Amino acid sequence: MSSSADKTIPSSGGPMDQLAVRRANLALVLREVWSSDASSRAAVARRTGLTRPTVSSLVNELFERGLVRETDLQQDGSVGRPGRKLELDGSTVAALGLEINSRYLAACTVDLAGRTIQERRIVHDGTRESAADTIRAVAWLTARLIERAGRSGIRVVGVGVAVPGPVEVTTGRVRAAPNLRWNDVPVGDLLRTEAGLADGMSVVVDNEANLAALAEWERAHPGVSDLMYVTGEAGMGAGIVAGGQLLRGASGFSGELGHVQIDPAGARCACGRAGCVETKVALPAALDLAAPDLVRPAAGTPDAAWGPQEQTVELARRAAAGDPKALAGLDEIGRWLGKGLSIPVNLLNPEVVVLGGYFAAVAPYLLPAAMREMRSRVVAGDAALCRVTGSTLGFTAAVRGAAGVIVKEVFADPTRVSR
Ligand SMILES: [Zn+2]
Repeated sequence: MSSSADKTIPSSGGPMDQLAVRRANLALVLREVWSSDASSRAAVARRTGLTRPTVSSLVNELFERGLVRETDLQQDGSVGRPGRKLELDGSTVAALGLEINSRYLAACTVDLAGRTIQERRIVHDGTRESAADTIRAVAWLTARLIERAGRSGIRVVGVGVAVPGPVEVTTGRVRAAPNLRWNDVPVGDLLRTEAGLADGMSVVVDNEANLAALAEWERAHPGVSDLMYVTGEAGMGAGIVAGGQLLRGASGFSGELGHVQIDPAGARCACGRAGCVETKVALPAALDLAAPDLVRPAAGTPDAAWGPQEQTVELARRAAAGDPKALAGLDEIGRWLGKGLSIPVNLLNPEVVVLGGYFAAVAPYLLPAAMREMRSRVVAGDAALCRVTGSTLGFTAAVRGAAGVIVKEVFADPTRVSR
């Protein structure tokens, strides 16, 4: 292949065009270095179609931004002298993922290579606090983690926020979050102000199930083009990947599976309607049926040490030990889950359904009834019955997805990281 001319779109030569072309080429070289272990500059030039001098100049800029580094000298095949190779660095560049849950706030900082630097989870009852107070707590956590990363020489370049409700992603506004009793909260703007984030710092707000779906898809099912991720905690929702893309719908509000009515005579839902899927299958329903005593902590355990994760661990332990009430309760939850899932399975024909949140830990006790129920409701029969599997990320899927969105922004535009 000829590398005599740059394979970029010819520009009219204006300064903005040149800047855009350089940004695109920086992204191209960064992706090339990332996708192939230890490339030489010559190999990058060959594979991208860019000239050697252009690649050298781009690589120097990626060094300055802390995104690429050189390996030690190594022999490159049988002939020639040993050369230095390029590899992804990113150890000083990080993304912060946050999750606002009705019972806790969670955060994780990951560097560009995907290594986890910090993880935090704090008890916060979002159902009792106002939206403003919850955002203040998130801002405090954000500022603290950015400052701590900074003390280790790590720059946080953006913040992704997962929230339990439909989000207008372009503006960072949460349209509704029934379990938090939120209506139209400009989370992105409030967080930026409260945490004093610099203008250059990216803030992305998205629905927790969408972000968890992205994390689960990229990490555990990268070859699958049709996948549905289902969250199960205080509420229930779905993130849908269809045809290899996150399905957002016209305004970004798709995936509200938790508020599809499956029992007209059912209990009132936090959204104000009755008999929604989440009233039947979310963690409160499971505790109610399978282990009502777990709603409150045991005597001597402080409230702050008792949340969805602790409740889930104990529920799974009881099921594994053969506790009849736990098993019967989870079987009933599985039945409703199968009924709820049959609706998107009929609509979307996913290849894999990933069960996240508390569902993941108790999946073996939900699945027999859920699959039976789905089999009886899916019109195309067994041929349309997808694989249903537990999440590999459990309660951390949403924060990982939130951080992942920021990492992807850097790969798309390396100039987001200052020199
Ligand atoms: Zn509802």
